[in-house]
Parts: sequence; structure tokens; C-alpha cells
Amino acid sequence: MPMFVDHSPPGQCIFCRLVAGEIPSAKVYEDALTIAFMDIGQVNPGHVLVATKRHAVTLLDITPEEAGAVLQTAQRMARAVQAAFDPPGMTLFQANGPVGGQTVFHFHLHVLPRHEDDGMALAWPRKEPGAAVLQDHAARLRAALPAD
Ligand SMILES: [Zn+2]
Repeated sequence: MPMFVDHSPPGQCIFCRLVAGEIPSAKVYEDALTIAFMDIGQVNPGHVLVATKRHAVTLLDITPEEAGAVLQTAQRMARAVQAAFDPPGMTLFQANGPVGGQTVFHFHLHVLPRHEDDGMALAWPRKEPGAAVLQDHAARLRAALPAD
């Protein structure tokens, strides 16, 4: 995980200041709802971030319209990354909350070109609880689905 952590309040966070043009960035693209710019850390060449222009902290805080716009911009960035850097793989990474790995508390999605043995790692501790537990979890989620 990156070491930089931004705890600035809404409107003053590093991405709000970047959207406002108050700090420089290597901007790639922007539209009405989203902005895409190079991650300063560059895990691999072409590593780009897609953020909402409006300050919102997590996936739970963005609107459905922003969610759709973010993924459309991410696909545009992925196509550009593929054309410009030709990585053999690509990972989308989006973190929510400190425990989820979020370090800048303004919604963003990483479009990350991947290469063999590039050092990027995410542990995946499978639990395989069985069909009955899966059915119970699915029922809990169905009951919790927001109304459209
Ligand atoms: Zn912000």
C-alpha cells in the first residue's frame, strides 16, 4: 500500500485541489463528472487514476450517474493504456476506507497496467463456507438491496 495518506477535509483534499487546478497534475482526460490523471506513484508505466470531480469519499457516497461515468472513463483509460503501453494485463483497483486500503479520501479508481512479477500483490484468503452459508449471505443481500 502507498505510504501517502490525505486526511484533508472535503474541498481541501489533494484531489479536490487537483480538480480545481490549484496543484499540478499530469491530466489525461476529463468530462462533466470525472477526471483522469497519472498516479504519482506509477506502480507500472501508464498507471492512471479516475476520480469523481465532486468530492465524495467512497463508492457508497457517489451517485449512480457518477458510478457509471467513472467506469466509462476507466474503460476509455484502459483502451488508451493498452494502445500506448501494451501491458500483458491490467487490474482495476478501488479502495474504500482505511481498512479497505484507501489513502486519499476522495473517490478514485486505479487503472493499473500489469506485468509478470511486477511486485503488485493482493492476498486472497479463500474461506469456502459451503452452499448453505452462500444462500444465507445471498438472502441477506437481497433483503438489503436499495429500492430503485
Ligand atoms: Zn476531494
